[in-house]
Amino acid sequence: MRVTQIPFKTSKMVASELVSINAKLLTQAGFIHQELAGAYTMLPLGLRVLTKIENIIRAQMDKVGVEINMTSLAPIANWQQSGRFETVDVLMKTTPANKVSAQKNTTEYVLSPTHEDMITPMIAEGNRSYKDLPISVYQIQTKFRNEPRAKSGLLRGREFRMKDLYSFHVSEADLMRFYEAMKPRYSAIYEKLGIGNDTYITLASGGDFTTEYSHEFQTVLDSGEDTIYLDRENRIAYNKEVTSPEDAKKLGVDFSKLEIVRASEVGNIFPLMTKFSKAFNYTYADENGTQNPVFMGCYGIGSTRLMGVIVEKFADGKGMVWPKAIAPFAVELIDINAHERGEEIYTKLQDTGIEVLWDDRDERAGAKFADADLIGIPVRLVVSAKTGDQIEWKDRTSDQTQLLELNTVLERLKI
Ligand code: ATP
Ligand code: MG
Repeated sequence: MRVTQIPFKTSKMVASELVSINAKLLTQAGFIHQELAGAYTMLPLGLRVLTKIENIIRAQMDKVGVEINMTSLAPIANWQQSGRFETVDVLMKTTPANKVSAQKNTTEYVLSPTHEDMITPMIAEGNRSYKDLPISVYQIQTKFRNEPRAKSGLLRGREFRMKDLYSFHVSEADLMRFYEAMKPRYSAIYEKLGIGNDTYITLASGGDFTTEYSHEFQTVLDSGEDTIYLDRENRIAYNKEVTSPEDAKKLGVDFSKLEIVRASEVGNIFPLMTKFSKAFNYTYADENGTQNPVFMGCYGIGSTRLMGVIVEKFADGKGMVWPKAIAPFAVELIDINAHERGEEIYTKLQDTGIEVLWDDRDERAGAKFADADLIGIPVRLVVSAKTGDQIEWKDRTSDQTQLLELNTVLERLKI
């Protein structure tokens, strides 16, 4: 991609209401555009990063489930049937905007914050025998939540993206077998995203579905909104919400010995048991033809929140620093008064299948370098009168530059 193709410029100035580091940097670098507090458009560079994050999630989820894409609009009746219409404190609904619209259709709809209330009756439709189970279905799409505070950029959206997987089982034992198998899938995702070391499986409240605990995946982060008690040695953590004296006893943990840190919840797996199957009368017939309730689990990962977490985790004084696996491009190419040479190298890199962003603007070198640091692509290549037949290579996180032959550059980037 050429920088001149992108109709969204980098800027030093950002709206003063953008207080979070991730929203500031992503906005300055032209990755996102805030439409309202908690809702962000993905611009070309941001969309590339988000797509890569979601493809990493997708690759792991394809090992355990099949992908669908559900609607965001949901009938209010479904939410009433589960008893959640009046109780979910972030639930939003649509109404006709004006009289003329109301003349056409006055129906109101829920804007889905999660999909148990929709997927349970849908799966129940055609899967009523023990032979149909287990079932595991996931999607990666937009959710809506009426969040009271939306000052943390991508960490907390009113409109945000989530991977949500739902599993359906004949028994609690089968649910828990699947539930346990999700943990390594989640760990593999965070590992690939470059935050594996800083992301801890964390015991959290089981909510009103189960008296047991659920598990969150928490990434240690100063600006994170959660507080966790961390046992670094054993790589396990406890959400503050489960650190009461009763919990201490039940879990056999001395919380006073643990490190208290801030963290951001980047995933959550939840044994729903029979809460939704009961609400939607989802039973299956066993070998004897007896009807039994289906056991369910749900498994979420916030893909846009992850993007914000990764920005905050790795940013330095000059801008963002993307892990290779999700950088918008593998290299940024800068030409300084050497447009023809730039074009030649750009074409070569593209022909070799290397993802390259070419800063082909008619700009001062200093401005291009500053923008490259801000955007945070792992490798910066420079061609100028000074570099002659060679190319200057600099890693984003290093101050050293090297002059290399084109072939060496291509070799290095192929790995
Ligand atoms: P939180 O406690 O942060 O409000 P939650 O526990 O209500 O989140 P879940 O219903 O567990 O959220 O959603 C699954 C995942 O979706 C979370 O682990 C998180 O990564 C992400 N997520 C939840 N709410 C938001 C939001 N408002 N903005 C961005 N990501 C979110
Ligand atoms: Mg959660």
